Amino acid sequence: NSLVLDTEEKPARRRLVLVPVPAQGHLSLMMQLAETLHLKGFSITVAQTKFNYFSPSDDFTDFQFVTITESLPESAFKNLKPIMFLLKLNKECQVSFKLLLQQDISCVIYNEYMYFVEAAAKEFNLPNVIFSTTNATAFVYRSVFKKLYANNILAPLKDSKGQQDELVPGFHPLRYKDLPTSIFSSLENILQLYKNTVDKRTASSVIINTASCLESSSLSWLQQQLEIPVFPIGPLHMVASDPTSLLEENRNCIEWLNKKKQNSVIFVSLGSLALLEVNEVMETASGLDSSNQHFLWVIRPGSVRGSEWIEHLPEEFSKMVSSRGYIVKWAPQKEVLAHPAVGGFWSHCGWNSTLESIGEGVPMICKPFSTDQKVNARYLECVWRIGIQVEGELDRGAVERAVKRLMVGEEGEEMRKRAICLKERLRASVRDGSSSHNSLDEFIHLMRTL
Ligand code: UDP
Repeated sequence: NSLVLDTEEKPARRRLVLVPVPAQGHLSLMMQLAETLHLKGFSITVAQTKFNYFSPSDDFTDFQFVTITESLPESAFKNLKPIMFLLKLNKECQVSFKLLLQQDISCVIYNEYMYFVEAAAKEFNLPNVIFSTTNATAFVYRSVFKKLYANNILAPLKDSKGQQDELVPGFHPLRYKDLPTSIFSSLENILQLYKNTVDKRTASSVIINTASCLESSSLSWLQQQLEIPVFPIGPLHMVASDPTSLLEENRNCIEWLNKKKQNSVIFVSLGSLALLEVNEVMETASGLDSSNQHFLWVIRPGSVRGSEWIEHLPEEFSKMVSSRGYIVKWAPQKEVLAHPAVGGFWSHCGWNSTLESIGEGVPMICKPFSTDQKVNARYLECVWRIGIQVEGELDRGAVERAVKRLMVGEEGEEMRKRAICLKERLRASVRDGSSSHNSLDEFIHLMRTL
């Protein structure tokens, strides 16, 4: 009976356990990876903590979702600074994660920041793969940063502004101030996190959400240093859909954009974690107002320090944004960037936002807040030359000048042309037979041999 034979001969689907960081950008990417691997024939288990818990929709009925228990207070994600939160979360999850590894599993794939997974995988003799949701260059500079610290040459970071502007020897175009430090954390805490995320430890390979057309030299450097396969398989948002928004998207802004001329709107969005002081919001509003450009501005609830949203901002705020601005709590960002009316993106330069902007050929104004965002901003400005970085304190004059340079000047036009060329190259890299596509195939082949 051929039917019986069929079932008997069919190999069992290999099960992969995926462990995301509980924050919007990281989670979306992990789910995109999960979807891609599932389509290639793997069974998927997603292990989440209670923080920013993603409730699976109908799109994910074939996946298994499990919870890693820990005893951090509910408020920890909101109240702790991100680096401290990650350090504590890793400590907390170690024990209970092991209980989840009792079933038949082929491999564990974990976000580089969820490094607790490695010890558990090692104990169960399970292959483990690091998934870097930042980029290869940030990975490189975290290593550099560690070495500079070990050799005691990070002093310029603590010194006067003049020295901070100097280039780090041997690491053009990075200046001391672009190193992935954070105003939200001590050097020691950052280094502790990097110590755990940079080393390959026992991982069998690293997958990175990037493409070789963006960072070929950083990728070669990594490959040499890590001595395990490094697979640049991105941008994942171009190969898989993304039904994982933790916040409700306001789609009315698309209607608003539909009424605007081509390249006439600047989109302002600072990702899922950045916080602004009230005075920074006011300076931004004033600069946007006097730039005379239309703007679509995402102000996430809780992102203005000390305020639920924007209801308690000084009265001038509404006046400044009412004539040319449109404010939403959360936008369908990829769709907004793809809209013909959007001619520029004011961003904190998170890696997802950076890839999404390049993927739509939209040049950027870069206002990074911390860690890897500073490296991305420097690359946008000096390497890919599709960004203008706003440095120092946020004041209305600087905002107005940057917006005008990007939206009305010849300089902006040149950047737009370069951004469109880069978009074509990036899109080509995920097509059949191209670099990211091939890398993904090689990675899947490796997974099948485990
Ligand atoms: N995002 C969105 N709507 C918004 C703002 C952001 O969908 O209004 C998405 C954006 O498309 C990106 C993610 O949130 O995929 C932010 O990730 P990123 O790495 O840029 O920054 P992070 O949030 O990690 O700081």
